[in-house]
Amino acid sequence: MTLLDGKTTAAAIKSEIAEEVRSILETGKRAPHLCAILVGENGASETYVASKSKNCAEVGITSTIVRMHEEVSEVNLLAKINEINLNPEIDGLIVQLPLPKHIDVQKVTAAVAPQKDVDGFHPANAGRMLQNLPCYLPATPFGILLMLEYYKIKTEGLHCVIIGRSNIVGLPMSILMARNASPGNCTVTLCHSKTKNLEDVCRSGDIVIAALGKPHFLKSNMVKDGAVIIDVGITRVPSTKTKSGFALAGDVDFDAVAPRTSYITPVPGGVGLMTIVGLLKNTLRAAKQEVRF
Ligand code: NAD
Repeated sequence: MTLLDGKTTAAAIKSEIAEEVRSILETGKRAPHLCAILVGENGASETYVASKSKNCAEVGITSTIVRMHEEVSEVNLLAKINEINLNPEIDGLIVQLPLPKHIDVQKVTAAVAPQKDVDGFHPANAGRMLQNLPCYLPATPFGILLMLEYYKIKTEGLHCVIIGRSNIVGLPMSILMARNASPGNCTVTLCHSKTKNLEDVCRSGDIVIAALGKPHFLKSNMVKDGAVIIDVGITRVPSTKTKSGFALAGDVDFDAVAPRTSYITPVPGGVGLMTIVGLLKNTLRAAKQEVRF
């Protein structure tokens, strides 16, 4: 079993990004700039945004956080997004999810200019992804592709089982793994809460990507020998072992599953770190205006 180490992979790709940022600065241009809008006070969102800012700083990308009150109106949030869309000093814009209930997430997603949509959530980017056209890929699936690439894992012709069909992870992942590309060229089964015989389906997966948000859901009897296991899940669970009283749990029962696998990602230290790398890469691409709409 080989551990797919997010720390090592992220560090290697981040040093390439830092190098590219340095060469942009050498031409006299400003650094790439990522802006994050944070609405309300959500502990997990604060942690994610702080981590994104820290990672930006590590590779020389400028980052700004725009904080808006929990009760900000949808109109005012959309106006702020529009202001950032028009700001030539900002290359990438993310609106940290989840948003308060009174705000329509789809409206917000569609309001971000596609060329600044470094989360890859805008319908224009999603549509282009479907057609294998230049676009910003959603950061988590992008990060998983980068990890498969880094470890030179062959995917062609394999059966890839994905558990979870969210718009930000499972669904785009299924499209990317089925594409005529590398990584890709898999036969994909996309599972969800209504899937029958999920255990059997998982057992037939050469690659299983678990993205459902149920701690330790994937058990060793659901995995075939030698499978590649990618654990996307991150759930805060109570823990007596940490100062905070919480620990992060993945969707895979790691200790029991790992010995049966060829490759497996840990949680933490796996996909989460790669998601940030996906975001940094997208921001660099946005600064270089690589995707034209
Ligand atoms: P979501 O809640 O939007 O979707 C969950 C999906 O899982 C749904 O499609 C649902 O049908 C499916 N599902 C739920 N229970 C199931 C079951 N018993 N059997 C089969 N399918 C089932 O989830 P999401 O936003 O995609 O997030 C999934 C997990 O990934 C969460 O733990 C989230 O925190 C984590 N996540 C991690 C990263 C990262 O960077 N590592 C990024 C995004 C999300």
